[in-house]
Amino acid sequence: MTDAAHFDADAFAARAADITPGGVNSPVRAWNGVGGHPVPIASATGAHVTDAAGQTYVDMVCSWGAAIVGHAHPQVVDAVQRAAAKGLSFGASTEAEIELAETIRARYAPAQRVRLVSTGTEATMTAVRLARGATGRDLVVKFAGCYHGHSDGLLVAAGSGLATSGVPDSGGVTAAIAAQTIVLPYGDDAALTDAFAEHGARIAAVITEAAPSNMGVVEPPLGFNELIASLCRNEGAVFILDEVLTGFRAGPAGYWGVERDAAVARGSEPWVPDLVTFGKVIGGGLPVAALAGRTDLMEQLAPIGSVYQAGTLSGNPVAVASGLATMSLLDDGFYGRLGSHSDALVANVSGALSGASMPHAVGRAGTLASFFLGLDTPPTTFGQAAEQDQDAYASLFHSMRNSGTYLPPSSFEAWFLSGAHTLADIDRVADAVATWAVSRP
Ligand code: PLP
Repeated sequence: MTDAAHFDADAFAARAADITPGGVNSPVRAWNGVGGHPVPIASATGAHVTDAAGQTYVDMVCSWGAAIVGHAHPQVVDAVQRAAAKGLSFGASTEAEIELAETIRARYAPAQRVRLVSTGTEATMTAVRLARGATGRDLVVKFAGCYHGHSDGLLVAAGSGLATSGVPDSGGVTAAIAAQTIVLPYGDDAALTDAFAEHGARIAAVITEAAPSNMGVVEPPLGFNELIASLCRNEGAVFILDEVLTGFRAGPAGYWGVERDAAVARGSEPWVPDLVTFGKVIGGGLPVAALAGRTDLMEQLAPIGSVYQAGTLSGNPVAVASGLATMSLLDDGFYGRLGSHSDALVANVSGALSGASMPHAVGRAGTLASFFLGLDTPPTTFGQAAEQDQDAYASLFHSMRNSGTYLPPSSFEAWFLSGAHTLADIDRVADAVATWAVSRP
């Protein structure tokens, strides 16, 4: 480790690229979408990250959503330390993993049974396998711009990471696998109805992000998730709702809870997904994800059913301790504050852009928000999201970095807040946006 005063960013970038492809362990961390090389992070507390050169930033990445209570929250760190002291991994059941599963079900009614895994990718991959096993069908419908992790069949038209890497679809996904995924434009009722009319008897599952957040944040058109639910129910397909990013972040019961509450307020019956996937928040920064859903489907998983899934580190005790401690901090007051801080972020950043006549649109879904520079109206499809001004975003990213805000290095991402962000942090972010906007190239 080099001390901050002697840190050489160019030398580090060369060293990293010499051992790790592209210098990063996940492509979204590269700065392909904004130019330059990432400076490694050395530490983080609360709403702030500090890089290896000693610069501290307001963090708007928050570990891509996982750090919902802020970095190194004392209660979470204490729980992790206490769990670690009792052993890092047993490869056997623990009481704590059952408690985390119960915590998820208590907050999210459709999660009748819960299986813990380590990554969102595993959760969605298993959900698709389970849907195929349960229905005996082969096809899966997904929507362009939605990301569901990097299992082969779901890596088609998969949003942010691929968009900023300049590859529409991943290499290495065989034509045979891609042919089992039907990709439709997001929010297009007619395309979805037509797909069922043409292929209904072969469709095992429809998978969607509860609210797309990997092409920027896109609010689902009214009734779209409900249409998926009813088509799946009528046609015998499984509705997989991906809440890996939105779960316990967009609202107390994820984005499903946002739509459930709106349906109840309208006096209608809320729609219900068959399977749900979680990640990020439920591990609070350590690797925990989950597949959950209807009992009759979930009980087709091994060891009681025929659909196999397993993991050496599934339900890892240290990761579960982090998840439980994090979830225990997420009460009504927490979500109330997160919601009002999201409102403040949107109002202040949007005001700063408007004040400098910078055209932009705001994407919102519950407490999630993102900003599309150069668009007049919030997009509902990946095609529309891709028309945003990515050069302007790159310029904003570097200007913000220089003045102390760490934005996602891609214009297709949410600007994440945590419970540790104060109104002063949000003002600092908005002031930096204003500074960029008035003097932008
Ligand atoms: N699903 C969604 C909606 C996501 O945003 C992500 C990751 O960003 C995943 C699945 C994959 O999760 P992981 O990166 O833990 O594999």
